Formats: sequence, C-alpha cells, structure tokens
Amino acid sequence: TVVPTVTLNDGTTIPQLGFGVWQVPADQAEDVVTKALEAGYRHIDTAAIYGNEEGVGAAIAKSGIPREELYVTTKLWVSDFKNGQTLQALETSLGKLGLDYVDLYLIHWPAPADEKYLEAWKGLEELQSQGKTRSIGVSNFAPEHLDRVAETGSVTPAVNQVEVHPALQQRDIQAANEKYGIATQAWSPLAQGAVFEDQPIVDAAEAHGVTVAQVIIRWHLQRGRILFPKSVTDSRIKENFDVFGFELTDEQLQAIDGLERNERTGMEPTTFNPA
Ligand code: NAD
Repeated sequence: TVVPTVTLNDGTTIPQLGFGVWQVPADQAEDVVTKALEAGYRHIDTAAIYGNEEGVGAAIAKSGIPREELYVTTKLWVSDFKNGQTLQALETSLGKLGLDYVDLYLIHWPAPADEKYLEAWKGLEELQSQGKTRSIGVSNFAPEHLDRVAETGSVTPAVNQVEVHPALQQRDIQAANEKYGIATQAWSPLAQGAVFEDQPIVDAAEAHGVTVAQVIIRWHLQRGRILFPKSVTDSRIKENFDVFGFELTDEQLQAIDGLERNERTGMEPTTFNPA
C-alpha cells in the first residue's frame, strides 16, 4: 500500500495516514504498534503525556524497519514549558523512544492563561536547528495563538493538530492554518465512534461496500487532512489502513461536510489550562 504524502511548509513530507496511540496502555503499546507496523503504517503519533513512548520505541526497534522509512511524532507537555525545560523534555522522549531524532515535535496544548507557549516555541525552534526534530508544530492552537506565534517566532509551525471529525470541522481553525501555510492534522478523526450512525456515512459505506470508519477516513484524506486513527484491535488496525481501494464522490463528501454540529469529544483549547 502506498500512502499519499503531504509536503509541509519546511519542505519535508509526511504520510497522510498514520496510527495514533493515545489511551493505548503502556504495557500494550509495543504489541499494538507492532501490529500497526505489520499492517503497513509507517507514521506513529504519540506524546510524552501518553506514557507509552517506551512501548512505541520497542516496537520500532524490533521491527527492523529503516529509520528513514518511519515518521514519528511526539509532543511537549505543558508542565515542561516552565523553566525552559523544553530541550530536556525532548531528550527524555528521545531516550524513551530509542531514537536520535523525531520527525515532528509539537506543543501539545497552548494552555494560554499565561503565554509560556511562546517561550516553548523558541525551544522547539532551537531543537529543530539542533536536528533533534525534523519539523516543529503545534496542537490545539486557536487562530489567536497562531497569530501570537507568527508575531514572536522565527519559524512558522509546520502543522496544527486539532480535533476534526464530521461533527466538529473547525473551519475557522482550518482557514487560519491555510492562511499561514500550516497543514491540518485531525485528531479523534473518527470522533471516537460518535458519528458512526450518521446517515450520510452509513449510506456511503453501503454504496462502496466498506465500513463507516473507512468512509470517515476517506473523507479526511480526500479533504487533504493528515490523520492517525487509533485502535488496539488487530482487525480494525488493518481496516483503518485499507482505504485506498475506493473513492467518495463529491456528493458523498459534501453530505458528510453537512454533518457539522460543533460537537466536541475533547477539551476546548482556549479555556483548557492543564498544569
Ligand atoms: P479516534 O477518533 O481515532 O477513535 C478511536 C476509537 O474509535 C477507538 O478507541 C475505537 O473505540 C474506535 N474505532 C477505531 N477504529 C474503529 C473501527 N475501524 N471500527 C469501529 N470502531 C473503531 O480517536 P482518538 O484515539 O482520540 O484519536 C486518534 C489519535 O489522535 C490519538 O490516538 C492521538 O494520537 C491523537 N490525539 C491527539 C490529541 C491532541 O490533543 N493532540 C487529542 C486526542 C487524540
């Protein structure tokens, strides 16, 4: 299976479809990521706060897949914005992952009550210049936070990873991303199952003889977003990767676009200020 790539604003490329490991327990991560790599995924999305970087790293090491064929993302937690701990935080993540560099390092949440994320961004710029990460980006940034980074930073984020699925399409954020040349990554792309009974999705699945999850993944891909659905179940891990044998029609894409209802599964970034 050849997964399409997206070229980021720093000239690097990222596989458009990857595998996410939020809520994969630490003691299952090696096994689950091994299954994903066997199914053909080459892009893994983890984070320091997920507590499973060691398992991800063990699966990568065991796979024998050449490093340059893999795309690994991890994320800086909010507690490490403080006291300039950003450089050390990526060192710690790299140690757990058993890697010399990651492909993408993200600020996980802006936690905007103070503007420490701007200091953290300087740290990410430094890490990129040191070669510890190929690309740098942000997650859960509202347009106003992107504006602040543009005003104070030297590098434009390569991606902004935000909650996007049929019931929450974040058109304002996607427009701001586009304005800055930032690629949109969709987290909780399946809305964790909350849109599986929506009629346009069910209808498209029947029309193509595929599953509702496969329809939603196709919708993201054909709308140009990067995504990394999560599952711990072998059959679903394979199913979510088996999405390159059919194409949604314009009518089907538009019907799914019509499901927007501002329904969030996660936290609201402008008010979420974790410690
Ligand atoms: P998701 O939308 O990918 O849903 C995953 C859930 O959907 C699974 O636990 C399972 O219950 C179900 N599912 C998956 N495949 C299925 C299938 N084929 N058939 C039926 N049910 C299926 O949700 P997610 O895990 O929240 O998001 C994906 C990834 O996004 C995460 O693992 C993580 O990497 C990333 N993420 C990032 C942030 C952030 O703040 N940056 C937040 C949440 C998630």
